[in-house]
Amino acid sequence: MAIDPVCGMKVDEKTTKLSHVHKGSTYYFCSQRCLDLFRKDPTRYLTK
Ligand SMILES: [Zn+2]
Repeated sequence: MAIDPVCGMKVDEKTTKLSHVHKGSTYYFCSQRCLDLFRKDPTRYLTK
């Protein structure tokens, strides 16, 4: 399972079609909304 970096939900990377490659890493999302938010501002969701 992967973690949606936007909302923190667990996402099954085998079934989801919502993925995005950023700086060589692939991220998975629970919804189109989360994917759109991530695309707009990836660094916002990757800094910890
Ligand atoms: Zn999400």
